[in-house]
Amino acid sequence: MAPPPHALVIPYPAQGHVIPLLELAHALVDRGFTVTFANSEFNHRRVVAAATESSLLDRSSRIRLVAVPDGMEPGEDRNNLVRLTLLMAEHMAPRVEDLIRRSGGDAEGYGPITCVVADYNLGMWALDVARRTGVKSAAIWPASAALLASLLSIDKLVQDNIIDPEDGSALSQGTFQLSPDMPVMQTAHLAWNCIGNQHGQAAMFRCLIASVRAVDKCDFILCNSFHGAEQATFARFPQILPVGPFLTGERKKAAVVGHFWRPEDDACMSWLDAQPARSVVYVAFGSFTMFDTRQFRELALGLELSGRPFLWVVRPDIVLGGDVHDYPDGFVDRVGGASGRGMVVAWSPQQRVLSHPSVACFVSHCGWNSTMEGVRNGLPFLAWPYFADQFVNQVYICDVWKVGLRAEADEAGVITKEHIAGRVEELMSDAGMRERVEALKKVAHESINHGGSSHRNFDMFIEAIKA
Ligand code: UDP
Repeated sequence: MAPPPHALVIPYPAQGHVIPLLELAHALVDRGFTVTFANSEFNHRRVVAAATESSLLDRSSRIRLVAVPDGMEPGEDRNNLVRLTLLMAEHMAPRVEDLIRRSGGDAEGYGPITCVVADYNLGMWALDVARRTGVKSAAIWPASAALLASLLSIDKLVQDNIIDPEDGSALSQGTFQLSPDMPVMQTAHLAWNCIGNQHGQAAMFRCLIASVRAVDKCDFILCNSFHGAEQATFARFPQILPVGPFLTGERKKAAVVGHFWRPEDDACMSWLDAQPARSVVYVAFGSFTMFDTRQFRELALGLELSGRPFLWVVRPDIVLGGDVHDYPDGFVDRVGGASGRGMVVAWSPQQRVLSHPSVACFVSHCGWNSTMEGVRNGLPFLAWPYFADQFVNQVYICDVWKVGLRAEADEAGVITKEHIAGRVEELMSDAGMRERVEALKKVAHESINHGGSSHRNFDMFIEAIKA
C-alpha cells in the first residue's frame, strides 16, 4: 500500500507562527497526511520543553517534530528578526533540502515527503527548495489578508510614491486604501515600517519582496482568516485563500500545541472556574510585546481600578530592562492573595482561557492570532497594539468590525490607569459591541464548519496537494 501523503511544515521561528502552523499540521493529519514539522533547533527545544510528556508520546498525532539549526550562535538575540531571517535562508535551506531528499526510508512509516507547506515569510528559500526537489508547495500566511495585500501591492505603493523603493519607508505620513472597502492603512504602520529595527529595515524589506516574488509561483497561498472578516480584501486579492480561523487549542488536551513557555493551565483554569460568568478581564500581549516600567505599573493600577477580576499574563521578559516583579507598592497584596481578585501567570493556555464562560473581555496587543481567537470566542477587545501588523489589526477591531475600543495614550505617551479602567467599563456595558462580536463569532464558526467557505477552501487545497 502506498504511504500516506507526507507534508513538511516549516514555521517562521516566532510564537505567533509556530502555534498556527502546528494547528495546520494537525488539520493535515485529520485529512490523512503524516507531517514532519521542522522548527529551528532553538524553538524545537522550547516546544519540547513546554509540551507535556503525554503529548510528545502521542503516536496517534502522526506529527514528527524535527529540529533544523537556524545559523545563529548560542546567546545571540533571536528577537533580531532581520538577522535571523537572513541567517535562516543561508543555513536552513540546504538542511531542509537534505531532509526532503532523504525522507521515506525510516521505520516509523513516514513515506517520502510529498509537499512543503511553508510560512510565507520563508518563501524566498523554502519554496525554492520545494521546486528543486520536485514536491508540491503551499505558503501559509498566519496574519491578516489585508497585510498580505499590502505586500502584494509593494510595486503599486512605490509607483504611487507612497513608499520608498529602497527600504519601504513611508514617503508621507498619510493613509491609503488598497481598495475602497479595505481598511484604511497608515503608511507608517506598514509591517516593515514598525518592526522596531530601523537599521535592518531595508534588508527586511528586500526579504519581504523576495518572498512575494517566490510565493507568486507556488501552488497555494493559505491564510488564517475567514471570508466574512476580510471580504473586500479577498474580493480584490482572490489568490489568497482563507482557511481559518484555525481552531488552535481546541484539540484534545494531549496534543502538542507549540507553546514556547509551559502554560499554567491548572492555575488559570481553576481560578477562572471560581469567577462569576462574564466577569473577568483577560489581559495578554502575546510573545514579543514589552513595556517600560512606568507603563507596566500603570496597567497594574488600571486593572486594580477597574474593580473587575482579571487574569493577566506577565511573561518573564515583558518589562524592558526591568524586573517583572516590580509591581506598584502594595499591588500584589491588594489584588492577589486573600482577596484573589487578580491572577497573574507567566503564560496561559490562551485558547482555553478565551473560551471560558467567566471571561468578559480581552485586553490585547492585537496580534493576528489573538485577534482571531478573541473573535471566534465572541469577546470584545481593548485594542492596545505594540508593533508590526498589530496597528492594522486594531483598525479591523475598532473601525471595521467595531468589536473593540482603542487604548489611547495621553500627551506624555502613557495609557493611564483611569483610561484603562474607563475603557474596560465601557466595553463591559456596551450591548451593541457584544452583539456585533457575537455576530462575527457566528460567521467565523460558519466558515470553518462543514460546507462553510474556509472548510471548502481547505478541502480544495487538500485534494490538490495530495494528488
Ligand atoms: N498565547 C498563549 N498564552 C499566552 C499568550 C499568548 O497561548 O499567555 C498564544 C496565543 O493564543 C496566540 C499566540 O500565543 O496563539 C500569540 O500570537 P499573536 O499573533 O497573538 O501574537 P505574537 O506573539 O505573534 O505577537
